[in-house]
This record gives sequence, C-alpha cells and structure tokens, in this order.
Amino acid sequence: MAKLSIKNLDKHYEDGFHAVKNFTLDIDDKEFIVFVGPSGCGKSTTLRMIAGLEDISKGDISIDDTIVNYVPPKERNIAMVFQNYALYPHMTVYDNMAFGLKLRKVPKEIIKEKVIQAAEILGLSELLKRKPKELSGGQRQRVALGRAMVRDPKVFLLDEPLSNLDAKLRVQMRREILKLHQRLGATFIYVTHDQTEAMTMATRIVIMKDGKIQQVGTPKEVYENPRNKFVASFIGSPAMNFIQGTLQKQQNEHYLNTVRDQIKLPAVLSEQLKEQGYLNKEVILGIRPENISIVNSGEEKNTSAKVGLIELTGAEKYVHLQLNNETIIARFHSEMTIESGVQIDISFKTESIYFFDAKTENKIN
Ligand code: ATP
Repeated sequence: MAKLSIKNLDKHYEDGFHAVKNFTLDIDDKEFIVFVGPSGCGKSTTLRMIAGLEDISKGDISIDDTIVNYVPPKERNIAMVFQNYALYPHMTVYDNMAFGLKLRKVPKEIIKEKVIQAAEILGLSELLKRKPKELSGGQRQRVALGRAMVRDPKVFLLDEPLSNLDAKLRVQMRREILKLHQRLGATFIYVTHDQTEAMTMATRIVIMKDGKIQQVGTPKEVYENPRNKFVASFIGSPAMNFIQGTLQKQQNEHYLNTVRDQIKLPAVLSEQLKEQGYLNKEVILGIRPENISIVNSGEEKNTSAKVGLIELTGAEKYVHLQLNNETIIARFHSEMTIESGVQIDISFKTESIYFFDAKTENKIN
C-alpha cells in the first residue's frame, strides 16, 4: 500500500522565487500519476519535495496517512529515477544496482537475489559485468530503474527518465515502464514535459503552469473536457486551434466575428453563450484539428478557407487552412485528396467546439 496525500504544498526558494503554489493532490495506491507542464512550471520541485530532497516551505506530504515532511529521504520508502540516470561510472551494472542495498547493510545473499531478479525483469542479465559507458542509453536507463527496483519501494518517482533517449527507444521504454508498473504494483509519479508521454502512460494527469495545478484528470477527461485554454492547448497534438472574436447576431444567425473573419456558429452553442451573457462580448473558440472537416459547397459550413501548407506524417496529413486573418490546422487521413491553393468550405464538429472566456481563459461551455 502506498497512497499519498499532498496538501497546500508551497515552495519558496531561498532567493524568494515561488516555484510551487498551493499544490493539493491525493494519489491512490498503485496509480500512475504524471506531472506535465512546460519547462519551469514546478514539476521537478514538487517531485523532489515528495522525495524529501527539497525542503517544504508550507503544507504537508503524507504517505499512508503519516506526515513525512521531516522524514529523511532514505526513510520514506521512495525511490527516485533521474533524467541523467546518475549511475556510478566506475561501478559495474551489478554494483550500481546493489549499491543502495549495500549501504543499508542488507545481507549479500539477499542483495544478489534482488539484483538478479531485477536484472531479469529488465533484460539486463547479460550485462551485469559491464560499466555504464559500455551500455546504450536505454540500457543505462534500465539500470537506473533496476537500482530503484531492488529497494522494493512503495513509491517510484521518475523525473523525465526518457528525455535523453531517441524517439524510438523512448516509445519502447515507455511500454517497459508501464509493464513494470503493472508488475510491481507500486505507486508511480512520473514527470515529463511531453504531453504524448503523459497521455499514453498516466492513470491521471496533473497539468501544471507557473507552479500551480491547472487540472487533474484521466487522459480522456483532460482531452475532452479541458478546464481552460492552457490545458486545451497543452493536451493534444497538433494543438487545438483558437480563434478569438466577438459573438454577434446577424439576421437570426450567430457569428464569431474577428477583424476579417466570420465563423457561423451552431444555434445550440450560440444560445448557450447568449444565456451566459456573452452576446457582443469577446470569446475564444477552440477546435481540435481532428474535428474539422471539408464540406461540399451548398452544405452547412462554419467558414471558408484557402488550403495552405500540407504536412504528410504517414497515416495522416496536417493541412494548414488560411482564413482571412487566421491560420488553423486540420488533421485528415493521408489518403484524402486535397491541394494547396484551393478555396474550400469547412465545418467544425458541433459537440467538439469549445468556448473560452477571452479574459479569464476559462472554458465556458
Ligand atoms: P523542467 O521541465 O525544465 O525540468 P520543471 O517544471 O521541473 O522544469 P522546476 O525544476 O521545478 O521546473 O523549477 C521550477 C522553477 O523554480 C523554475 O523557474 C526554476 O528556475 C526555479 N528553481 C529551481 N531550483 C531553484 C533554486 N534552487 N533556486 C531558485 N529557483 C529555483
């Protein structure tokens, strides 16, 4: 069992910088929690406070209902895996993995058993005599994981463990870490700035910005129901398109009018916005690239656009659509025929159109 409870956690660094602000989160046993957010948003600082490597300025961290604020790192039953692996270069793989247990004066036989077992799980059995410089990046990362595993921690903290690996290996290691999570039945907290990693790995994602939690939810929840424009823009690739304009009524129809563009809005959405007092006010429309489609002329459309750059990714193509003032990106199947320079009518999937308040940037609908 390892559930964590983090309450009103704050971090002021010595120079006064307020890196983590009122961070509150309950983590269940065996969850795979991912902290995600842009560089400098406070992910690592939060993780390091959980590990006990960084003092807490305010708040409480509990593990299984015991407050651990002043418990030294090695007594927290937590293992941390870093981005740079932090392996000892002069030691073999075996000794790197055994080191923590030796320090704890664990009997040699038990150390051997644990290292051999971890090496087997991680596919390192053949490499136990090598030194870190004789390993590939992925193998080094596995040693770092093995070193954490042999301690049987209740909680694994992983700080961008895959960012030094190439794209292909990253995908492979992601799967291995997920398998490890299932197999070990421990609680994992994983830090990354990569939203794809967060979406594919997490049971719940914690999205942070400027030291504050923006939203906590399952990958599906934060994708489908982002609380604000920041979350909406951070989750999803290519990112959600945003068009800011004024909600206006013209001859029984509602439009989002920008300086040079006019987006016709579905009645159901405009009624909702009107009821919330947004008529003649600025709002931001959000639409994901996958929810834009091309319609035949004469069919119901939201607006028109000229086809610009087309980026082929393999199975899909990202098509840049030039409105008068804005450029938005649509995501289509690669087999769809579409040519640059052509004028087209487009429609947005009604149930997937989001609106955000132009000032607060909070989601309205
Ligand atoms: P990254 O993805 O780049 O690792 P992060 O979200 O993990 O970023 P943190 O490392 O937690 O961010 O840093 C949060 C903020 O605290 C940053 O603005 C950073 O510059 C600042 N910071 C980190 N360590 C210190 C320190 N020792 N003293 C003062 N400010 C610090």
